[in-house]
Amino acid sequence: MTRQVWIGLDDACPALDPKGPPHFRVLDEFLASFPAAKITHFVPAEYSMRHGLAWGIEKQVRRTMGWKTGLRAIPAAALDRHAEWVAEFAGRKSFRAELHGLYHVDFKTGDAQEFRTLDETESRERIDRALDIFASAKLPVPRVLSPPGWAAPEPLRRVLAEKRIALAGSLFGSDNAFRAGIPGTNAVRVTVVDGVACIPRNLSIESFDPARVDALAEQNGLIGIHGHYKNIGVKNGLSLENLSNLFRIVERVEKAGPVEFLFAHEGIDRARA
Ligand SMILES: [Zn+2]
Repeated sequence: MTRQVWIGLDDACPALDPKGPPHFRVLDEFLASFPAAKITHFVPAEYSMRHGLAWGIEKQVRRTMGWKTGLRAIPAAALDRHAEWVAEFAGRKSFRAELHGLYHVDFKTGDAQEFRTLDETESRERIDRALDIFASAKLPVPRVLSPPGWAAPEPLRRVLAEKRIALAGSLFGSDNAFRAGIPGTNAVRVTVVDGVACIPRNLSIESFDPARVDALAEQNGLIGIHGHYKNIGVKNGLSLENLSNLFRIVERVEKAGPVEFLFAHEGIDRARA
């Protein structure tokens, strides 16, 4: 039995590499050990999320007062304005960029769950703008969205169904995934709910639990390994410790038998075939 493995990292974007080289270079050692590996990066097209204590306090005040956040002020974060980063990314055959929202933030609340309070029209505008930026950056047409903060409410799902864009994260059986669960999804298989294909993410690089890896490998389903680009507001970013968890997870699956690596869109195509 061949195990199908897909690896997805959220938040990869040049806005999180303001100084110095792209953080994605830390994956080169992993790819040297697993040359067949494929890594789907979920990229916010115009990352506008803010971080830090001062921002946390401001957000709290604005939320209490019901003010909008005015986060659009961050300049030049759009992907298509970072040609060098995009060129180096696109030069790696093991990488594929998919959608992770437009701004990664809900301006009404300041939360990372960009689509949580948006209606269908607003959701469609964000997705269309993100698709335009991907096209302008000359990246392949995205096929999958990892919803920022895992929030995929019904208005967004209607837009995705219309555009035939799939969702990453069955929002079931994964870390912190229960907050916006979509009924009817499955933890180890691609499922179609309301016309939207959902590909599961069921392991996080935040830890290495051999028993959980073995249990997933037993199920003859998809193993979806989830992480983030950096440890900003999360614990499963590409730190050295989490990279070593990624090594150990993949080694453990390989011990159980042959592994086939897939990009997220390939996992979805395979399930539809
Ligand atoms: Zn994110």
